[in-house]
Order: sequence, then structure tokens, then C-alpha cells
Amino acid sequence: MDWQNMTFSLDELEDIWETYQAYGSTNNSKVLAKIATEYTYCHLCNHLIPVADFQQHFDDHY
Ligand SMILES: [Zn+2]
Repeated sequence: MDWQNMTFSLDELEDIWETYQAYGSTNNSKVLAKIATEYTYCHLCNHLIPVADFQQHFDDHY
């Protein structure tokens, strides 16, 4: 398996995010920082949303 080119589905990324959250290591995790360059976690529906879509997504909750 070529780890350098491994890609994760959004579903898997959410799993990773939530696992790190559960261990309380959100502030110093390089993994979460990397995910956060592309996705923002929505605490209202517990999903990762592409950064570019997040504002619209967030507004849609209200
Ligand atoms: Zn949401």
C-alpha cells in the first residue's frame, strides 16, 4: 500500500476527526490541522463540510 497517496473518504475523515476529538487532542494534532485546511467541522450536524461551502452550510441551519 502506498501510504503517501492514501486518500480517505469524507466518512473516514469524520471518523478520524471524532476519534481525535474524543481523546481531547484537537489543539495539537497535525492530523486535524491537515483536515482543517480543507474541511470545517459542523458541530450542529456533526459533519465535516468543505471550507468553501461552510458559510452557506452554517446559514442553512438557521
Ligand atoms: Zn451542519
